[in-house]
Amino acid sequence: MNIAIMGSGLAGLSCALTLEKYGYQADIFERREEVGDRFVIAEAMFSMFHTPYDDAIKFLSETHDIHLKPSSNLQKVYFYSKNESSFINGHLGFTNMRGKHPDSYEKQMESQLKGKIKYNQNVTYEELSKEYTHIVLATGDPLDTKKIQAYDVAFKASFKGAVIRGDFNRTEAHVFFNHDYAPKGMAYLLPHSDCEASLVLVYPQYPENEHLDKDQLWKMCWEDCCKRLDQEFAIINEYSIKDYRIGKTETDRIGNTFFIGNCWGSITPVFGFGQFESMLTGIYAAHDIAGVGDYTKLVKPLSQSYHDSLTLRRTMEKFNNDHLDLITKSINIQLIESMITNKDLNLMKILSRIIHPFSRKA
Ligand SMILES: Cc1cc2nc3c(=O)[nH]c(=O)nc-3n(C[C@H](O)[C@H](O)[C@H](O)COP(=O)(O)OP(=O)(O)OC[C@H]3O[C@@H](n4cnc5c(N)ncnc54)[C@H](O)[C@@H]3O)c2cc1C
Repeated sequence: MNIAIMGSGLAGLSCALTLEKYGYQADIFERREEVGDRFVIAEAMFSMFHTPYDDAIKFLSETHDIHLKPSSNLQKVYFYSKNESSFINGHLGFTNMRGKHPDSYEKQMESQLKGKIKYNQNVTYEELSKEYTHIVLATGDPLDTKKIQAYDVAFKASFKGAVIRGDFNRTEAHVFFNHDYAPKGMAYLLPHSDCEASLVLVYPQYPENEHLDKDQLWKMCWEDCCKRLDQEFAIINEYSIKDYRIGKTETDRIGNTFFIGNCWGSITPVFGFGQFESMLTGIYAAHDIAGVGDYTKLVKPLSQSYHDSLTLRRTMEKFNNDHLDLITKSINIQLIESMITNKDLNLMKILSRIIHPFSRKA
């Protein structure tokens, strides 16, 4: 058996590390010069979306031998709608760095790898399939999946983001739901440190959003963020992403080809989180290759969670700013807050089950 992993992002590296644990050495191909060779941003893992694992970092470490140091613990998340604001408290999850940052998760994982990554290798599936018995597709790009099998795109997302300078509390995140500048989307601020943060605006590229001026939306988002946090932030650098596909493969594997990470459909459509899911798909593919698990069975709960999340998104897309104000206000009610922060409740599953009959009727 010889194994090729295409892509050394979170999914590919989790797969490689797990294979090593079982005594297998994969050839890892990366098209860039180094791991994480892209812009620096902060990303988050929220515990409320990872039920039954209340602490993803502890779970990865204790169960899968993958050891990650987040940049901070999230203890407070503020929510802002057009006219309301609220917050929740508790052990809510973690923030971490991605990309070129020396502490990015991809760099941390690379340092745990015994084998060497083959850099500057923009390989194709066709090339690899001539040489290898097992191929793990982990390029982070659903277009690569589409060349091999059906991939259902739920929507394409447009991002605009910046690293900003200001005064931040590392344990606090800020989330903005306002259709005026984030139509059917959201904006969020995640701190990198006490003086630096990532501000991201993301919304789906539906036909009704096509005429919108992204720079104008960004300006409104920026102004709202400065106003809500009562600061004049400085921009360090900006980036923009278009056509970021969020969707899901038809099948998890074809023969000895495994689809993992974004190539499988690890991004949950409602809020766009996919780090933990990407790592799990990588780990599970390795379990199958090593003969200690069945990939399709192992990813089943993740598939269900994807579909629950899509149901929730389709419903939330029907909300207007008044609904969002009402929801934001209700987070201040103790019972609602404790439901959101209760690690034993799979909130996404419960909400999508309640919502499902209504969303079908609409
Ligand atoms: C702006 C933004 C913000 C996000 N925020 C969050 C967040 O806060 N929380 C969260 O959980 N998720 C977040 N996500 C999603 C999360 O980052 C992804 O789900 C996750 O990184 C996917 O991992 P992956 O390994 O599938 O792909 P990637 O991490 O993209 O890795 C793919 C790798 O494959 C390489 N590659 C590509 N093509 C080839 C080829 N042909 N040959 C060889 N190598 C190749 C690439 O260079 C790259 O290194 C965010 C995504 C974006 C874009």
